[in-house]
Amino acid sequence: MRFTGTFEEDPVTTSVHPTFTSIKALRMFTRTFRRIVPVMVIVFIACVPTAPPAELVIYGVTVIDAVNGVRDNRTVVVDEGRITMVADGDLSVDALESIDGAGHYLIPGLWDFHVHLTYDERFTEAMPGLFLNHGITSIRDTGGPLELIVPIVEGLRTEGVTAPRVFFAGPLLDGGDVVYDGENNPLLGISNPDPETARANVARFADAGVDFLKIYEMISPEVFEVLVAEAEARGLPMDGHVPLSMRARDVGPRVQSLEHLRNIELDCTSDPQALLPERRQRLQNPDEVPGAQLRSSLHTLQRLSAIAEYDEGQCDEVISAMSGTIQVPTLRLNSLVLRPPFDRPDWDDLLDKLPVEIEEPWRMTTEERRGVEQGGDDTFARWSMFLVERMHRARVPIAAGTDTPISFAAPGYSLHSELEMLVRAGLSPLEALRSATVRPAEFFGLASEMGTVEEGRLADLVLLSQNPLDDIRNTRSVEAVISKGVLLSRNALDVLVRQ
Ligand SMILES: [Zn+2]
Repeated sequence: MRFTGTFEEDPVTTSVHPTFTSIKALRMFTRTFRRIVPVMVIVFIACVPTAPPAELVIYGVTVIDAVNGVRDNRTVVVDEGRITMVADGDLSVDALESIDGAGHYLIPGLWDFHVHLTYDERFTEAMPGLFLNHGITSIRDTGGPLELIVPIVEGLRTEGVTAPRVFFAGPLLDGGDVVYDGENNPLLGISNPDPETARANVARFADAGVDFLKIYEMISPEVFEVLVAEAEARGLPMDGHVPLSMRARDVGPRVQSLEHLRNIELDCTSDPQALLPERRQRLQNPDEVPGAQLRSSLHTLQRLSAIAEYDEGQCDEVISAMSGTIQVPTLRLNSLVLRPPFDRPDWDDLLDKLPVEIEEPWRMTTEERRGVEQGGDDTFARWSMFLVERMHRARVPIAAGTDTPISFAAPGYSLHSELEMLVRAGLSPLEALRSATVRPAEFFGLASEMGTVEEGRLADLVLLSQNPLDDIRNTRSVEAVISKGVLLSRNALDVLVRQ
């Protein structure tokens, strides 16, 4: 616009700043502004020489993480959601809250790497509190329908909500037949009978913001190829079960994590190639039995006989194919008969913390199980322990997940049972801590953000009263949790669960 020497009111300005349409209002604003500006300058000058206090300092604590080992007598400072200092020796730090950590142990916040928030709605609302109560500050939801899981994740991620960090997969990507179909099992899966459907499903999940994908046992090799390619193209890590139509050594190198050691035994046997045609033929499902039934019939058909024909040479090849694939063995589940939760000394106290609708049926089952001699075949339970020991010795990465709330996995509590089982299978306590801290972070490419106690890392921490390296069961001695930089004292943690 050319300047003509006469003022022309700009209609746009007038409509955008209605406050200034009257001269009186403009004068009021100017007067107020004159008063505020000197105050702002004084405040600014006063702030320059000394930094504002940090939010939290922990003095004299023994810091333990799987990368840096044990560091005694450290001062750890937390501010604005991050660890801002891990310093040696006695310092004085200006902080709003301080904790005397002498005689205590500070570890990174724990992960449960295999969780189903939507599996049993009686649990859903209580789960975040139960996780934090037990020192679990991050969870990976490994399967649930989008319409249920997305609103839950959004709720947990809302600013200011006290909840663990959550990462989710959306539905299990199953084959033409679906195991978790909403009829024979709770609805967790979705059908992928052909590559076109698989492509469309991945596109839809990616639009919904999933953090990774999970393939399931009934998919065909053709659909597997498409799903892996689609995941790679979108930069989404891939989790899964070994599909029954494939061999574990062909699946392992193509995905980033595998659950339950599932179907690996079928490839650790004397003639694994010979077992494949029968599985593929039955997966055609001419009798149209439900997916859950078809899957368990295949397990029944081949699992125990494959373990009976275990072949070390074959298994060495399988294990070497898994060298870069995180295994989530869920020993708590696979080897439940070796250490039933009902036998644990603190199980009865735990039941008091669970939702009322759960407490009663679980207490009844507890009484029933305690009343009878535990029998049954424990071959698969022992096989799972054996395979974890072998994999660990071969440096296969292992992560701690529970499948909570499935099969008496109490949210939070069960992660400590899993750590105990991993140590029983041959991991050191520090390696067990790695499985619940560093490994999950690596899966999501977040190892520079989470999983250790170092300057600059996200402030997810657990303060223990007992040394977890003396006995891994000491991870249960949670005195306080720092979740997303916020301190939760023991009292605050107890308020998060049923009293
Ligand atoms: Zn699961």
